[in-house]
Amino acid sequence: GAVLSGHGPRPVRAHRGTQLHTLGWQQEGALRMLQNNLDPEVAEHPDELVVYGGTGKAARDWASYDALVRTLHTLKGDETMLVQSGRPVGVMQTHEWAPRVLLANSNLVGDWANWDEFRRLEQLGLTMYGQMTAGSWIYIGTQGILQGTFETFAAVAAQRFGGTLAGTITLTGGLGGMGGAQPLAVTMNGGVAICVDVDPSRIARRLEHRYLDVEARSLEHALELATEARDARRALSIGLLGNAADIFPRLLAMSAPIDIVTDQTSAHDPLAYLPLEHTMDDWHAARERDPIGFAAAARQSMARQVEAMVGFQKAGAEVFDYGNNIRTEALAAGFADAFAFPGFVPAYIRPLFAQGKGPFRWAALSGDPKDIAATDRAVLELFPDNENLQRWIPMAQQRVHYQGLPARICWLGCGERDVAGERFNDMVASGELSAPVAIGRDHLDSGSVASPYRETEAMKDGSDAIADWPLLNALVNTASGATWVSIHHGGGVGIGRSIHAGQVVVADGTALAGQKVQRVLTNDPGMGVIRHIDAGYDEGEGVVAKHGVRIPMREG
Ligand code: NAD
Repeated sequence: GAVLSGHGPRPVRAHRGTQLHTLGWQQEGALRMLQNNLDPEVAEHPDELVVYGGTGKAARDWASYDALVRTLHTLKGDETMLVQSGRPVGVMQTHEWAPRVLLANSNLVGDWANWDEFRRLEQLGLTMYGQMTAGSWIYIGTQGILQGTFETFAAVAAQRFGGTLAGTITLTGGLGGMGGAQPLAVTMNGGVAICVDVDPSRIARRLEHRYLDVEARSLEHALELATEARDARRALSIGLLGNAADIFPRLLAMSAPIDIVTDQTSAHDPLAYLPLEHTMDDWHAARERDPIGFAAAARQSMARQVEAMVGFQKAGAEVFDYGNNIRTEALAAGFADAFAFPGFVPAYIRPLFAQGKGPFRWAALSGDPKDIAATDRAVLELFPDNENLQRWIPMAQQRVHYQGLPARICWLGCGERDVAGERFNDMVASGELSAPVAIGRDHLDSGSVASPYRETEAMKDGSDAIADWPLLNALVNTASGATWVSIHHGGGVGIGRSIHAGQVVVADGTALAGQKVQRVLTNDPGMGVIRHIDAGYDEGEGVVAKHGVRIPMREG
């Protein structure tokens, strides 16, 4: 039994330094990144193995976690561990080019792919919710979404507000693991943000990590602080304790001067969204007592919030869905106009995806911030003409608080990621970096996800729900030498609504790792380019020409 043999919650932290606890750096990379996902500095609810995004977990239960660690300790360089929804289920003899770990999380057969069935199976201990980077061990804290959020708000500024958010007020909900990036992303663009969350501990955490500037005492106080800063064209982020389903309609009724509205509460999972009729204190008990009634109440509240968002849109504000599927839930609760505003991908991000760009990231397995500083210098040197990157890195160095192992996020595309990765591998080989680097990305990337309410919403050719692409992505990463590869279902927008894949490759300074890094970091973003060209987007044409991406239907 799990409890009897002492497999219980305890603080987990990744090993630091150059001493191995496994038989090689590829395995060590997987071990440290698994541990890092559960570091209390990194994970939102580490005792429950929950990393972020509602109930996104790194391991199914503590006994599984112990078995994962135990197995990684003895895994050989030509073996592969298989992980089924957070539990190690086998070790196979493979070869040194094969991944050390293959993971499949939360996958269900189509007709069974809904939250109710998922929860039934989860209760039986048969599955877990892997979200995107929780179950695939490459979550790096709130920074992981920060640049994407920054780019999104920069695109809003460019399209609507003359290139800056100075002099504007943004209203949003959710200060969790991902949503917590919003205040900093808005202030980095010069704007004012009012961020509503029901959980005081989330507001405190963002204040502590300097993602959030101040907390307001009341709604009136928040508005006062916001308008004052806006009039002075000063950047300021304001946390406001409250329920978004209550605060949003109240602000609308007051005709509050809001310019931009979005939301990042955990609306993808109705049990992770607090309905109006419940309080923080009875949240857990209430959803356990009656999950179906609780979910219905949460949907009703989401409908209230989305109705207010549409109201703001009618009043002239820029309104968008920030990838939590709140429109679908509001529609299910009977609010017919829920899809009046667009999702952020078709509105702002798709041209980047079409060039294979997306949330590329790396973590220093040494634990030494100096290693990230060195990689920062290297990418600035490698891409002098990439203006966003030249602007982003110094800002990140100044403003980003590391959680767990030092890491960096940076939106690089096809033709750039492999160059950066190979440089990092050379830096490990030469001793310029004190230990290897784990290089990966979010599943929210250009060629790795099918998600019709988010990443693949409104594709030009109507291919939104075609899920062959993420599966091919996982296969090609496996065939190219990634260190671990994952296939997940339900991340971001919830069970039944997405299929996506991830990869991480460990640059350990060997010649073999150099080859793997080159192939993986070319082929992985290359998938994004061919997926978008196939759907009729032409932003990737330059990449195809420059980097020799082959598209058979155009040849012969
Ligand atoms: P999280 O669970 O860590 O945080 C959610 C927050 O919402 C919590 O702090 C919670 O207290 C708060 N909340 C719940 N109900 C509320 C209500 N009624 N009013 C106000 N606050 C409420 O989740 P996260 O990791 O921050 O992710 C948030 C959402 O964003 C998820 O749906 C996730 O799938 C989605 N997401 C979007 C992107 C993107 O790029 N846009 C990326 C990853 C995740």
